[in-house]
Amino acid sequence: MVRIKLGPAGSPASSTLEGISKVRELGLQCTEVQFSHGVVMKNDLARKVGEEAKKCNISLSLHAPYYVNLASEEPEKISASIRRILDSCERGHYLGATCAVFHPAYFGKREKEETHNMVRTAVTRMMETINESGWKIRLAPETTGKHSAYGSLDETIRLSAETGCSLCVDFAHLYARNQGRIDYADILDRIQDALKIRHLHMHFSNIEWTLKGEKKHLVLDGRPPFEPLARELLDRKLDATIISETPDTWRGSLKMKHIFEKLGYRFQ
Ligand SMILES: [Zn+2]
Repeated sequence: MVRIKLGPAGSPASSTLEGISKVRELGLQCTEVQFSHGVVMKNDLARKVGEEAKKCNISLSLHAPYYVNLASEEPEKISASIRRILDSCERGHYLGATCAVFHPAYFGKREKEETHNMVRTAVTRMMETINESGWKIRLAPETTGKHSAYGSLDETIRLSAETGCSLCVDFAHLYARNQGRIDYADILDRIQDALKIRHLHMHFSNIEWTLKGEKKHLVLDGRPPFEPLARELLDRKLDATIISETPDTWRGSLKMKHIFEKLGYRFQ
């Protein structure tokens, strides 16, 4: 049977630790721990949060800091980016997190191909460190929302195919990149044709966009609609973790849950 997990980006309580049981009480299945502005959590706390998550049967992922550019003009910024992602992965190991989501790079003045090669080199290096350290977490570069950023669907699929890393599909970002158009079946076809995946990690919200791409995440209001995505996932029997990045966080997850239940899906 297909396994769907829904939950918010960030804790629904005043701390990450307290948030875990709250996610459970809300009837949700997962949450993404946010290291958006830096990895301040210590390994000890990460371990405690991980134990609590196990007890509550909540699956965890994490979002690495936003301040990352694996194709920077300045080598020290690349090293700092790698350090931020690897610090996140170390905490992720103690959290028992499935994957570390990150926004890989900006093109700046570089050609697309050169940027891709730089990102690929950095991802390969980080995967080696993750393996050597015995961490079970997987790197999940995210599809980004702006044309100035590396991370179109094709680039993300290619990166995953060439390195063996995982990926995070942010549908709001793809919708913003495509100026308010989205074809879920086509997106999932392209991923499933290129990568042998049985589970997909994704972000969902609604979004305001400009010609440059994303502007602001919005609550669910049909732009893009969620129900056709839920249908596709159920029809394909594709296991999915869907993190709500709506401004109302867990309330967005509950709306998604309601839509899945209307389609006949029963959450465990
Ligand atoms: Zn996202």
